[in-house]
Amino acid sequence: MDNKIAVIFTGGTISMKVDPRINAAIPALSSEEIMAMVSNIEKFTDIEIINYGKLPGPHMTPEKMMELSLLVRKTISRDDITGVVVTHGTDTLEETAYLLDLTVKSEKPIVVVGAMRNSSELGYDGPSNLSAAISTASSKNARNKGVLVVMNNEVNAASEAIKTNTLTVDTFKSPQFGPLGVVDNDEVIFYRDITTHDHINTKKIEPNVVLLKCTAGMNSDLINFSIDNGAKGLVIEAFGRGNVAPEMLNGIKRAIDNNIPVVIVSRCPKGRVLDSYGYPGGGKTLKDLGAIFGPNLPGPKAKIKLMLLLSTTSDVKEITEVFERGIYVKR
Ligand code: ASP
Repeated sequence: MDNKIAVIFTGGTISMKVDPRINAAIPALSSEEIMAMVSNIEKFTDIEIINYGKLPGPHMTPEKMMELSLLVRKTISRDDITGVVVTHGTDTLEETAYLLDLTVKSEKPIVVVGAMRNSSELGYDGPSNLSAAISTASSKNARNKGVLVVMNNEVNAASEAIKTNTLTVDTFKSPQFGPLGVVDNDEVIFYRDITTHDHINTKKIEPNVVLLKCTAGMNSDLINFSIDNGAKGLVIEAFGRGNVAPEMLNGIKRAIDNNIPVVIVSRCPKGRVLDSYGYPGGGKTLKDLGAIFGPNLPGPKAKIKLMLLLSTTSDVKEITEVFERGIYVKR
């Protein structure tokens, strides 16, 4: 067979079953046990199992994500490997998938997958999601697409996909522009493409970045706390078009004066931020202070991007350029 897919197991619900002593799900299945439930896969492709860990999504850290990125880079660069699948807890999947998307440069397909129901539940979706992910990673159609998230037979871009529902198997969505395609009868069909793609060339990550969400009446306390505790960067999920409460301006100014980049994104799930409003706290006043506009990344993805950029530079102008114009690499 001229097709070999490496499946890297990191944990998540896909590897869990209910422990009867505590009546709650914990990581328990070995990668071999999970793969054995994916029927007929040997007729389709060769599989190499790589065990990274058995981590619940909330146990993932930026440092572990970078370690995983280095493992994916090493694996995907092998001549005998045609694609890579990474299993992951869905809680932080959107962050790891985006980090891989920004840091791994390869034409070969890389697919991140998980499950919403553990193996003790009726309708365990691990094996069907995994087979769809392997089909995608084996497909020539999935080359040059960046990192993909495949769940519930839907293909989404790692740069766009977010977990939208705490329960349902169709939880991963790209609210802004919709899915890239579907997996139908083991065939991957793409209906749209993403035209631009950022790549950040780094093997390191700056973990000391704080994400804050704006709420009505918020002041600068949490911003000042972050600065006093050595934050190297701040991401603020602002209101609507990119506006904050006026009492936050002092803290934001203090951060920028201390060469701490402040990235503004929106707490709305769709649309970009812009300097449209001129009242105190409006986007225009933030831009004038030197804040960086996201412009349409969800907060956790903007944080991943800032952590990676800060590992390569402390030049706020450079960071601004990457966020606001992107490094446009035509795929
Ligand atoms: N809490 C689980 C985790 O992220 C959820 C999942 O995997 O779907 O590990």
